[in-house]
Amino acid sequence: QQDSEPVLRTDDVTKRFGGLTAVDAVNIEVREGEIIGLIGPNGAGKSTLFNCITGTLSADDGRIYLQNQDVTSWPEYKIARAGIGRMFQETRIFDAMSVRKNLLLAAQKGDADIGQLLRRPNESLIARSDELLEYVDLGGLAETRAGQLSFGQQKLTEFIMELMAEPDLLLMDEPAGGINPSMLENLIEYIRAANEDEEATIFLIEHNMDFVMEVADRIYVLAHGERIAEGTPDEIQNNQRVLDAYLGR
Ligand code: ADP
Ligand code: MG
Repeated sequence: QQDSEPVLRTDDVTKRFGGLTAVDAVNIEVREGEIIGLIGPNGAGKSTLFNCITGTLSADDGRIYLQNQDVTSWPEYKIARAGIGRMFQETRIFDAMSVRKNLLLAAQKGDADIGQLLRRPNESLIARSDELLEYVDLGGLAETRAGQLSFGQQKLTEFIMELMAEPDLLLMDEPAGGINPSMLENLIEYIRAANEDEEATIFLIEHNMDFVMEVADRIYVLAHGERIAEGTPDEIQNNQRVLDAYLGR
C-alpha cells in the first residue's frame, strides 16, 4: 500500500464558521486499499473535514482530489457518484421500510426510477442484498421493518447499505459509537472484509481508541482544526503531542 495510488488527497483544506477555523489547512492522503483512522478531541474538526470531502460543505480554501481529479466544490451528488460512500454518526435509515428496501434504494445513486426499483428490483441486487445481510449476520431480517431493528443492527444495515453501492472509498463517522462492546470485534472483522473482499478503501473517524488502533493501518490526528500527527497506531499511541491534545494541554 505504500506506493499505491492516492484515492483521496486534501491540500491545505480550510473551513471557517464565522470567526472559528474548524479545519485549518489540513493535508491528508488516503491510498488505495488502506484503512485510515481520523481521531482527535471533540470539536477538533473531524466531521467538518468529512463534510468538505463529501461536498456537504464547501471548503473555504485548499483543494480536494479524488483519484487525482480535482473535485473541490463539486456538489454532493456528484461526489457520491464518483464512488464515495459516507456513513453518518446518526442513522439515516427509512424506519417504515423493510431492511431489503433500504438496501435496494442504497444501491442506486441519483437518477434511477425509485418506484420501478422497489416494485421490480433486479435479481442481482436482491442477491447482493442477501449476500451482504448474511455477511453481517442479519440474514433473515430482510423483510423486517428497519425501525424495528436494534440500534446496532441499524448501524450494520447502514454499513451494508453503503456497500450496496460498491464504493471505492467509504467514509465512516464513528462507526463504533453506541455499538454493544461485545459486537466491536465483529464490526472490526466486517470493516476488514469490506476492505479486503469488497476492495473498499476505508477512512474512519473513531472515538473508541482500542477500536481505531486495532483496525487502522495509519492514523491522522486533528486538534483545534489542525493536523497535529500522522503515523501508525504504535507511533500515534506514543506521540506526546497527541497525548497532550487529549489531556487538553
Ligand atoms: P468533531 O467532529 O471533531 O467533533 P466538528 O467538525 O463537528 O468536530 O466541529 C468542529 C468545530 O466546528 C466545533 O467547534 C463545532 O462547534 C464547529 N461547527 C461544526 N459545524 C458547524 C456549523 N455548521 N456551524 C458552526 N459551527 C460548526
Ligand atoms: Mg464529529
